[in-house]
Amino acid sequence: MGFDESQVRAALFAWLEKESSRNAGIFTRKELETGFSVGGETIALVGPTGIWKPRQFETMPISITTVSDGPYDDSIGKDGLINYRYRGSDPHHRDNAGLRQAMLTKTPLVYFHSVRPGRYQAVCPIYIIEDHPESLSVVAEIKAAYFPDAVEETAAAVGETDLRRYVATQTRARLHQQAFRMMVLDAYGDNCTVCHIKHSELLDAAHIIPDGKPHGEPVVPNGLSLCKIHHAAFDTNILGINPDYIIHVRGDVLEEHDGPMLRHGLQELHDHKIILPRHKSDWPDRERLEMRHEEFRRAR
Ligand SMILES: [Zn+2]
Repeated sequence: MGFDESQVRAALFAWLEKESSRNAGIFTRKELETGFSVGGETIALVGPTGIWKPRQFETMPISITTVSDGPYDDSIGKDGLINYRYRGSDPHHRDNAGLRQAMLTKTPLVYFHSVRPGRYQAVCPIYIIEDHPESLSVVAEIKAAYFPDAVEETAAAVGETDLRRYVATQTRARLHQQAFRMMVLDAYGDNCTVCHIKHSELLDAAHIIPDGKPHGEPVVPNGLSLCKIHHAAFDTNILGINPDYIIHVRGDVLEEHDGPMLRHGLQELHDHKIILPRHKSDWPDRERLEMRHEEFRRAR
């Protein structure tokens, strides 16, 4: 087949979406350098430069990459726009010219946002909508297509500025969620703190105090790495964790008679201690556990 850049871009967006459901939206540098295969070609998705053009592409980049200062660095503004700096100070450098061409041809790109050294989140498609040679930067917009389900009804109800703001809020929320999950799972070495299962596909970062409540911040001491079952059990007060890190199983559930899942997966964990992160600064906050355990006790 002939090499069609727009087909490659479309295939890439589909690939990123599929992979994101496998890796919870966090890509390693190595994965992105290795890239993805389409039509017998392997396309590298990042490279030594922030504005990255794979060798198979003619002039325009496929992605732009930001190195951030931390997991919640907001390089995406509240207005939904991304300010991106040129490479160097020459507006005519081929990388900067490539961005300009992407703007003029309305070509979709991917934005890779680095949350930690070597770990990236993908936002796509984005479009370059403004070029500012005077400040050596461009402005990119996140396309609404990033949230296909939600966007249709919202678009009908609001104007374009509101829609852009909505997309920004949703994108930031999603990125923060992914970053929180990554930090919590890292802290616990990809173990469920209750049952030790090590399959990260089965693990969630649970909030001790729910998101949006006072003390419900997305910080590691408000997080627990829990497998799907234990996350649901924790959220529904079947299982609690006291401020001394001891697991409690609700009384009526302890009395039940059923198969091995109930026995090994819940009842036998009663009175056992959770596994704690290696670094004490990552340990679950005792005050938050106390507040949350109060609710568990009332649920009995
Ligand atoms: Zn578990």
